[in-house]
Amino acid sequence: MVDETTQRAAIVAATRAVADRMEAEKSHLTDLDSAIGDADHGSNLARGFRAAADAVEDDESTPEELVKKIGVTLISKVGGAAGPLYGGSIMSASQTLENGLTTDTSVDFAEAYLEKVQDRGGAQLGAKTMVDALTPAVHTYKKSIEVDDLPPLTAFAKATAAAEHGVEYTVPLRAQKGRASFLGWRSVGHQDPGATSTWFIMQELLEVADEYLEDETDVDARSPTIPEETPDELEDKEETA
Ligand code: ADP
Ligand code: MG
Repeated sequence: MVDETTQRAAIVAATRAVADRMEAEKSHLTDLDSAIGDADHGSNLARGFRAAADAVEDDESTPEELVKKIGVTLISKVGGAAGPLYGGSIMSASQTLENGLTTDTSVDFAEAYLEKVQDRGGAQLGAKTMVDALTPAVHTYKKSIEVDDLPPLTAFAKATAAAEHGVEYTVPLRAQKGRASFLGWRSVGHQDPGATSTWFIMQELLEVADEYLEDETDVDARSPTIPEETPDELEDKEETA
């Protein structure tokens, strides 16, 4: 496991990477939210994560305290549904990092985060919310580590791919929670903004984890889907191509 200084540096770098990504995706997320909401999701998250990145810069606190601070900052800066859902859940889940950020505590964090999002928002799977990206991601991560015994980076790459599938799955659903639910059947055919931002955040976390973890696995966060074929089958394919 990496030492506390490296954990701290990884948390700060991850927050900055997420802030940059939210800034870059601001109009994309806003477009998604304008179709089934009130067009503020992109600006909400860009503002919130920038403030969170500034808040943890040069902070010498423990990993638990840093993550808690990120949550508290998001609550105060984001507003809307996403503020308490993202911020409040990160804040509560930070308790799982009491003994630092390890593979095991990262699974605990992911589970606690999902549980808090569901406690706060009351959304079940299939309600067309961030829960639809988060649930398959957290379950895939936990199973990959605890059952399949995969290295954490590989597990997180699979979880990110699962989140992407979850995002696609929101398109045909009818929203049952949040502003989009006011549209009833008219919400069908649109991709959920909160599920999309959840997936983008995971892509950034994967890239930063790749930089900071002592793990041999080579991952590409921009196309995290794990090939189904075995390496031999892939080689055959390349030869015939
Ligand atoms: P608001 O809807 O208040 O404008 P945002 O636009 O920032 O807030 O966030 C909208 C996103 O929040 C939705 O796309 C959805 O993923 C998520 N969301 C809304 N309500 C809930 C809920 N009850 N549970 C989980 N996620 C929710
Ligand atoms: Mg909105």
